[in-house]
Amino acid sequence: MTTTLFTDVRVFDGDGLTEPATVLVRDGVIAAVTPGGSPADLPDGAVPEDAEKVAGEGGTLLPGLIDAHLHVNGRKDLDALVQHGVTTGFDMASWPAELTAAMRAEQHTAGMISAGLPFIGPAGPHSHFGMPDGAVVTDPADVPAGVARRVGEGSDWIKVVTEDPGQGGPEPEVVAAVVQAAHAAGRRVVAHASHLGAFTMSLDAGVDVLTHVPTEAAVDADVAARMVEGARIAIPTLSVSKTLTSMRPAPGVSYDNARASVAAMHEAGVPVLAGTDSVDQPGVPFSIPLGSTLHQELVLLVDAGMTPVEALRAATSLPAEHFGLADRGAVREGLRADLLLVGGDPTSDITATQDVRGVWVGGERLR
Ligand SMILES: [Zn+2]
Repeated sequence: MTTTLFTDVRVFDGDGLTEPATVLVRDGVIAAVTPGGSPADLPDGAVPEDAEKVAGEGGTLLPGLIDAHLHVNGRKDLDALVQHGVTTGFDMASWPAELTAAMRAEQHTAGMISAGLPFIGPAGPHSHFGMPDGAVVTDPADVPAGVARRVGEGSDWIKVVTEDPGQGGPEPEVVAAVVQAAHAAGRRVVAHASHLGAFTMSLDAGVDVLTHVPTEAAVDADVAARMVEGARIAIPTLSVSKTLTSMRPAPGVSYDNARASVAAMHEAGVPVLAGTDSVDQPGVPFSIPLGSTLHQELVLLVDAGMTPVEALRAATSLPAEHFGLADRGAVREGLRADLLLVGGDPTSDITATQDVRGVWVGGERLR
């Protein structure tokens, strides 16, 4: 396997920016990171003659980006991600289980982990997406078997799609039962909650992660404080809020509410992860490009009040930490060599992530 030596390159290590460094990648793993150092500081023989050498040339090396909310429907989606430096995706719902398993096993492309089949209510908008039997659940007594099935199919966490009360989503006691059964099985629960009533109901039911933000009203400081108290996580997906509010304008619905929700949660100290809801799938009523949209999400997170460094953490170290991926999300010795080289310095100008110069997955250069 190729050994790669990055020289004189600034590193965003998952936390902050280092001075120019030498980074050695060997056997698919980050073998050495020496801020301020030169290749001469590496032990004799550490760099074989045929190592690929990559000069920093004013660029910045980052951990491969993680999109914490997307939908993978085929190898093409994983390949699209990697072309934009997104080396891991959190698939927030896909089916059938065979497809999800096949996508999880793909090599030489972006990696993914997945919720598999979500739980939905009997009559919400998601009930029209053509999901298989077992997606709809109305009786809390049926929940434990449904969770066991998903765990058996490999679900890395359990997803539940909630709606405002009376809008056809799962009843609060069903959501609470999902949380109880998932926690008993060692899985976190992620709730799709794109309306404020769904958001607070999901919080009350004890879900761990809330994805999407309302656009008809904003999450306020009180709700955000409750999230901090309960150690909840947010994956707001501003990209899809932006797309849907412009695609389907409606009275009282505004992107400003989504932006204000992120600002309130961020100010309160809720961990906010970068996710897009990217999807390119028959039957889903909108399409959001995979890969490029994560760079847009970073811009939107900065616009909502995060610093560029905070936005970069939201797409690297934070999702790795909160979804238990100890092998990635940082540029550190011993981690997987999932890396993105960009021009410029994205810690001062977030749009610099869009100038992709190279992408490595497990040490293999894929762009
Ligand atoms: Zn989604």
